[in-house]
Amino acid sequence: MNVVALGTSGTYPRFQRACSGLLFADDPTFVLVDIGTGVMANLFRYVDPFNLSAIILTHLHADHVLDIYPLRYYLQYNNTSAKRRIPIYAGDDALSVLHGFNPGGDDGNFLEKVFEFKTIQSNKEETNDEKCLIIGSLRFYFAETKHIVSTYALRCETKEGKKVGYTSDTSFSEDLVKFFKDVDVLICEAAYQGENGKENLHMSAREAGRFASMANAKKLFLTHIWPELDPTVSKVEAEEEFGDEVIILKEHMIIEI
Ligand SMILES: [Zn+2]
Ligand SMILES: [Zn+2]
Repeated sequence: MNVVALGTSGTYPRFQRACSGLLFADDPTFVLVDIGTGVMANLFRYVDPFNLSAIILTHLHADHVLDIYPLRYYLQYNNTSAKRRIPIYAGDDALSVLHGFNPGGDDGNFLEKVFEFKTIQSNKEETNDEKCLIIGSLRFYFAETKHIVSTYALRCETKEGKKVGYTSDTSFSEDLVKFFKDVDVLICEAAYQGENGKENLHMSAREAGRFASMANAKKLFLTHIWPELDPTVSKVEAEEEFGDEVIILKEHMIIEI
């Protein structure tokens, strides 16, 4: 399985940097996690969106969802009778929130024409078959983060038992440390630099390094770095806490699991 970085910029895009998006690719299983500005264009390098097994939206902040609208147009106007609706797993308010941007009105099915909305359920206690979400060859587990809106972190497990964690947006949380215990790869947000992040919002790189160390993650990748910050500083700060090499996630980086 590969995890492809489609977007890594925190909050807004920059030249050659898209907002949040990851592709979990275990052909023929393709799961897109978050679809911020610029992610859709980058996705075409790897898979036709019609072949996505599912989309997961960790939360509904604009930097994680805005490309759902152009993707909706692509799926509608290139449709054939053989095409299916693509499942979107998200919080239970996703459809009503995303419908807020529905220019011109239509028959009320602006998004449901091409997407099928399903609700994420968190399961931060134990991994068991009842609560995990199985998409093709991959298993996903979810836990709520400490963020200003309802947000899910996820852990993906492969057939071979490899574990990849993605924090989505969160401030430092010991509950989440347990959720990511012993992951092979942790993709951790690190919006800020300096000692502390902001409560109920984001982590600093230093906190991300400490977080990954406490979770005993084997490899640490930083994402969602504020676009005006120098990522090499984030790397140094995170490494001081993690005690090992930290990699700054960049667009089109492929993590082999
Ligand atoms: Zn964000
Ligand atoms: Zn957010």
